[in-house]
Amino acid sequence: MLTAPVFETTRTSIGQCSVLDMVQQFGTPFYAYDLETIRARVNDLQAFDTIRYAQKALSNIAILDRLRRMGVQVDAVSAGEIERALRAGFDPAQDPHSVVYTADVFDAEALRLVQEHNIAVNVGSPDMIDQLGELLPGSNVAMRINPGFGHGHSQKTNTGGPQSKHGIWHTAIDDCLRRADRHGITVTGMHMHIGSGTDFEHLSQVCGAMEAACEQVGRTVTTISAGGGLPVPYQADQEYIDLNQYYELWHATRKRVADSFGHEVRLEIEPGRFLVAEAGYLVAEIRAVKEMGDNLFYLVDAGFNDLARPILYGAYHPISIVHRQPGNRQEHDVVIGGPLCESGDIFTQQEGGFVAKRRLPAANVGDYVVLEVAGAYAYAMASNYNSRYRCPEVLIEDGTAKLIRRRETAADLMAQETIPSI
Ligand SMILES: *Cc1c(COP(=O)(O)O)cnc(C)c1O
Repeated sequence: MLTAPVFETTRTSIGQCSVLDMVQQFGTPFYAYDLETIRARVNDLQAFDTIRYAQKALSNIAILDRLRRMGVQVDAVSAGEIERALRAGFDPAQDPHSVVYTADVFDAEALRLVQEHNIAVNVGSPDMIDQLGELLPGSNVAMRINPGFGHGHSQKTNTGGPQSKHGIWHTAIDDCLRRADRHGITVTGMHMHIGSGTDFEHLSQVCGAMEAACEQVGRTVTTISAGGGLPVPYQADQEYIDLNQYYELWHATRKRVADSFGHEVRLEIEPGRFLVAEAGYLVAEIRAVKEMGDNLFYLVDAGFNDLARPILYGAYHPISIVHRQPGNRQEHDVVIGGPLCESGDIFTQQEGGFVAKRRLPAANVGDYVVLEVAGAYAYAMASNYNSRYRCPEVLIEDGTAKLIRRRETAADLMAQETIPSI
């Protein structure tokens, strides 16, 4: 069973690797991912028949490769994610469900790849059934259902209900079945990604809606997917989810559907954040320390182009300091910001952009700041804003720090640009 998280405010290593050694080797800023943590989260979910990694959380092909070796399958939401899955060794020819394309639309390139590699599809719009049927009549599909209600306080993270663009509206199932019939398409999978988090009352509503939707589709259904949305704690006062309870609710749903159909039904889970969030660390160097009125600022060499969750969602990341010299330090309330020419480039902020302070041990220019629980939706959202080079990614595996993406260069930055002749 998982225990509550403990976040220290100083550290010297990540996994078995010394931060100072990694700084020497890779420079700053850089992301480090501890593979042991990813492995532990995969083990937590072994009760499910299939763990399908939602790679949009962290899509480096080395991470996909290692997850594949752990027996995890993969979800792709774009043509690029299908290409990444193929590059990482997922073979849809051997196992037609090793890669599933889940989306609300097909763009031309995604549809081409689906056809070329016979990728399984989870459709989120009735039109996708017709578009697939014209190219690949006789296929099997999964349907992502919007049960008519969602969860979550933010429009940006809500994945169900009438305000959400995701999935097939629950009353449109019959229409979809007629479309499928026209193309000889069989609906073999049913999927809901609502993100109930730790709200089990809400989750049982989702399970009830899944059961009803399966009954409506009928006996062709052989797989149900619980989607993603498993939370991880980002702060010491947040708890791990009770995975047993989570599993039992879905397992009971699967059993009822299986009993009703008289055949076995597989249960998938599709986590992104849960598998990788806690494994990730963004390491940056403190480049300036300055007092501004009542605020003490540590300015570091990583910005929101490296980690956007604070400016996007007011997200909280645990922070620790790596000192170049050991010793006890007094604690101070500090604001941590980056180098971008934008006042919102602050890692310690709350929703609405309000600057927050963090109690951390005193540090100097040349010490390091580690932004923690930064594996999910972190590098995946990195950009070149301010023409900054995206930073390297490092995989910590068996006590060794291995480069899995090098730092970008000026050549990378401008590689797709041309100055046309006059
Ligand atoms: C984003 C996404 C997930 C993963 O969500 P997490 O909250 O990271 O677990 C799973 N399934 C689909 C279809 C998604 O779009």
